[in-house]
Amino acid sequence: MSSVVQVEYVGDLAPYDEEKAALAEVGADLTVVRAADADALVEAAHDADVIWLEWTPHLTRDVMARLPRLGLGIRWGVGYDQFDVAAATELGIAIANAPSYCTEDVAEHALALMLALSRQVVLRDRQGQQGLWRHGPVPQRRLAGSTVGVVGLGRIGSRVARIASAFGADVLGHDPIATTTEAPVRRVGFEELLREADFISVHVPLSDSTRHLFDTDTLALLKPHAALVNTSRGAVVSQAALVAALEAGRIGGVALDVFEQEPLPADNPLRGRDNVILTPHEGANSPQAMRDLRREVCGATVEWLRTGWTGSIVNPQVRPHARGLARQAG
Ligand code: NAD
Repeated sequence: MSSVVQVEYVGDLAPYDEEKAALAEVGADLTVVRAADADALVEAAHDADVIWLEWTPHLTRDVMARLPRLGLGIRWGVGYDQFDVAAATELGIAIANAPSYCTEDVAEHALALMLALSRQVVLRDRQGQQGLWRHGPVPQRRLAGSTVGVVGLGRIGSRVARIASAFGADVLGHDPIATTTEAPVRRVGFEELLREADFISVHVPLSDSTRHLFDTDTLALLKPHAALVNTSRGAVVSQAALVAALEAGRIGGVALDVFEQEPLPADNPLRGRDNVILTPHEGANSPQAMRDLRREVCGATVEWLRTGWTGSIVNPQVRPHARGLARQAG
């Protein structure tokens, strides 16, 4: 019997009937555990072949080294920046994500935020609710005919580019890694995008090279009316630099779904500004996305249990010494 351990999910998937049925077909059972710290995780997952994880920071090098059977860790989500993937690779453990379940949702959320900034929907709603009629300030510019800069031309960024283009925007795209794209963008360097764009939408993973990609120096290149939308990871944008730019009136508008510190503290200086929209990391949410998330995580697990490998593994360099493949061979 193989063992799949589900750690710390928010709980609304219980009782996991679909997952249990799918896993039973490949001779695996599912155990749901809470693990408040590293030792608790080691104890709870000691016999796990696969671990499903949400946000837990406990899957450290030390913990993975103490889980002798673990061959696969899967994140309930796209970003996997909270895992020590290098350590997992060294130990022969594959890490996978759920890459596609929310592409449309996050792209639509980014566009919703862009349009909300453009049309000042949140501010105008507040005024409408309070009975203020035709009250300043002047609207932001419209999307049609504006220049939209998309940073990161992967799944979500490409979709954003397509939708923005359908709205009549001229779309610039920057991605130093993706060699080809079918997105309707003119590819430019990062600085050119920052200087040219009226709206900027960020869709990069968080890594050492993207942490604070938007800092004091790069934010200073923006047009003063430019609007910045971030639905990727909070730490891609330096909050301190962003607040300074807002205070100095050097940025037109900001819309964020992700933050350096989540949940956003009550006294956070981003709050309470007319030109800032804050959504609490909701970009991926829809009934369709939640259905697809479950299918992606469970489907990848079943495939891995059958074959020792699955397509959503993010550290394919583990392959020569992957525990999953060794298990199949043995
Ligand atoms: P993806 O892997 O398909 O695309 C990311 C793209 O960023 C890749 O093409 C990569 O080449 C590019 N990139 C990497 N470094 C870059 C850099 N320095 N400059 C420009 N481009 C760079 O990922 P995706 O599915 O499009 O998701 C993007 C990110 O969105 C995820 O990593 C995740 O952190 C975030 N996300 C957030 C939510 C949410 O709820 N708000 C949901 C899903 C994903």
